[in-house]
Amino acid sequence: MSEKKQLTPSAPVSNFIRTIIDADLASGKYTHRGWGGKPGAAKAHANTPADPAKIRTRFPPEPNGYLHFGHAKSICLNFGLARDYGGACHLRFDDTNPEKEEQEYVDAIIHAVQWLGCDWGSNLYFASDYFDFMYEAAQYLIKAGHAYVDQQSAEQMRLSRGTLTEPGKDSPWRERPAEESLRLFDEMRAGQHGDGSMVLRAKIDMASPNINLRDPAIYRIRRATHHRTGDKWCVYPMYAYAHPIEDALERITHSICTLEFQDQRPFYDWLLERLAEGGLLDQPLPQQIEFARLNLTYVVLSKRKLVQLVNEKHVEGWDDPRLPTLAGGRRRGYTPEGFRLFAERIGVSKADSWIDFAILEDCMREHLNEVAPRRIAVLDPVKLIIDNYPADQQEDCHAPNHPQKPELGKRVVPITRELWIEREDFTETPPKGYFRLFPGNNVRLRYGYVVKCTGCDKDAQGKLTAVHCEYLPDTKSGTPAADKVKVKGNIHWVSVPHAYAAEVRLYDRLFKVPHPGAGDRDFLLDINPDSKKTITAQLETALRDVKPEDRFQFERHGYFVADMRDSKPGAPKFNRAVTLRDSWQK
Ligand code: ATP
Ligand code: MG
Repeated sequence: MSEKKQLTPSAPVSNFIRTIIDADLASGKYTHRGWGGKPGAAKAHANTPADPAKIRTRFPPEPNGYLHFGHAKSICLNFGLARDYGGACHLRFDDTNPEKEEQEYVDAIIHAVQWLGCDWGSNLYFASDYFDFMYEAAQYLIKAGHAYVDQQSAEQMRLSRGTLTEPGKDSPWRERPAEESLRLFDEMRAGQHGDGSMVLRAKIDMASPNINLRDPAIYRIRRATHHRTGDKWCVYPMYAYAHPIEDALERITHSICTLEFQDQRPFYDWLLERLAEGGLLDQPLPQQIEFARLNLTYVVLSKRKLVQLVNEKHVEGWDDPRLPTLAGGRRRGYTPEGFRLFAERIGVSKADSWIDFAILEDCMREHLNEVAPRRIAVLDPVKLIIDNYPADQQEDCHAPNHPQKPELGKRVVPITRELWIEREDFTETPPKGYFRLFPGNNVRLRYGYVVKCTGCDKDAQGKLTAVHCEYLPDTKSGTPAADKVKVKGNIHWVSVPHAYAAEVRLYDRLFKVPHPGAGDRDFLLDINPDSKKTITAQLETALRDVKPEDRFQFERHGYFVADMRDSKPGAPKFNRAVTLRDSWQK
C-alpha cells in the first residue's frame, strides 16, 4: 500500500459482488418480489420484513464470542452494499447451537455493530425465531421424500460417508417409509430419544462428488437450554440447514459469506429449491456469494482461539486492548472510521491473502491524525532545570491544538524553571546524528526557548537524576528574534509544578510473529511477552479533565485514548492506540 487514498470514502470501488448486484438490478431479478412492502411468500414468517429495499444483505454472527476485526470486514461489506444500493442490511443472530451461545455475546455484538456506525433499522432477527418454521419445513421434506430419520451411530455415519475419491454408502434407514420418519422425528422433538441416538438427514445423493450433498444431517437431538427459547426444544437444526431458510424468510437477495462455504452452496440451493417447490418459500430465492475472509498478520481471528485467550487469561477479558476484538480495538483507541477506511482499502475478492497488520494501523493513524488534538506527555520523565530562569517566574507558551487545523486554536502551556523531559532526550555521549540535549548543545524547547545544555546530576548508582541548562532569553517561540539561534533539536516538555502524573499503558502487538501458530505450532507460544507496559507519565494540565474515550496525539509518541473503563475526569488513564510510525517494518 504505497499510494495513499483519501480518508473520506469517495465513490465505492467496484468489485465482483457489486458486478453481480448491478446485473441483478439491471435484469430485474428481485423487483417483482414485492419489495415495495407486501411480503409475498406462501409461508411468510412473522419476521418477514415489510420495508422497501432494492437489495437485502445480512450480517449473521453466531453469538458464541465477541466480534473480531475479520467481522468488521464482513459488516462494512454488507452494510456498505445496502447503503450504496438503497437496500437493507439485517443483523441476524445465528443462534442454532445452544451450548456455546450466550446473551452476553448477543449484547456485545449489538454494541460492536452499532459502534461501527451500522444501522439495521427494524431488521434485527434471531434464527431461533424460525425454529417452528424450520421444524415444519423438515416435516415437509420428510413427507416429500427428501429427508429421513437415521439411527446409525455417529461413528457409523462417519464411516459410510466415503471420501473425496470414494462414494459414500447408503444408510440402512435411508428407504424407511416417510410415515415412520415423520413419527420418529416427532418423537425426537417430544424428547423420547436420547441425544445422538438419531438424526434427521436430507436425502440427496450418497455418491455425490460434493460430500456436503451426501445426505447431510439437518436436525439433531440436544438437550440444552437455549439462551432465548429456553427448554422449548430438544432438537436443533444444523447450521447448513438453518442458514438458507433464515435468508429466504428474511427475503435476503445476496447472502454474502466467506469462501469456506463455497462447497455448501449446492446444498443451500438444493434446500431452498425443494422448499419453494413445496410452496413453503417464494421465488426468487436468495443467492449465496462467497468472498475471501480477512487474514491479518500478528493476530488470530478465530473465535475458538479468542475464547481460549480470554478463558485462559492470557489477556484481561474480551475488551483487552491487545485483543483483535472490536471491543478491544475500541478500548485501544481504534476508531469506527479507521475500520471502515481499512475495509474500503483492502477491498473484497475471491482470492485468499494475508493483510499486514501495519495496514490496519495506518488506517487508524490516518483517521486519528485528522481528529485527535495534540497534547504533550512525557512518558519517561527526568527533570530539566533551567539554572538561569528565576524560580518564581512563569510565562505562557502557546501550543497549537492541531498543526493542520489552525482553526482549532492554541492553548497555553506554562514554562517554569523546572520541567519534565524525556530521559532519552539527554545523553552525555551523543552518537552521530544526535541533536538533542548533551553538554554544550543548543536545543529548542518546543513552543518555548532555546536552551544550552550545561550538564547533569546523577545518584550514587550513576543514574541520571536531573539535566541542567540555561535559556537564551530572546529566543522565545513566536517572538521576532525566535529564529536568531538555529538549532537542530526540538524537544517536548511539561512544567513540573503544572504537570501531573498519570498511568499510561503502552500496548504493542499481542503476538511477536506474523503468523501465530503457523504449521502445527501452539499459537500461545507466539504471544509477545512485552505487549503491555504500564508506566507513570507526566502530562500537561489540559489532559487532566478528559472524558473516557477522548483521543489525543501525544506529540512525538503516538495516539492515545482515555481508557473507557478505568479513566475518570481528574484521574485519567491512557492507552496507546498506535505509535506515530510503524516500528515493526525494519
Ligand atoms: P470464526 O471463524 O472467527 O470462528 P465465524 O465465521 O464462526 O468466525 P460467525 O459468527 O459465523 O463467525 O461470522 C459471522 C459472519 O462474519 C459470517 O458471515 C462470516 O463469514 C463472517 N466472518 C467471520 N470471520 C471473518 C473474517 N475473518 N473475514 C471476513 N468475514 C468473516
Ligand atoms: Mg461460523
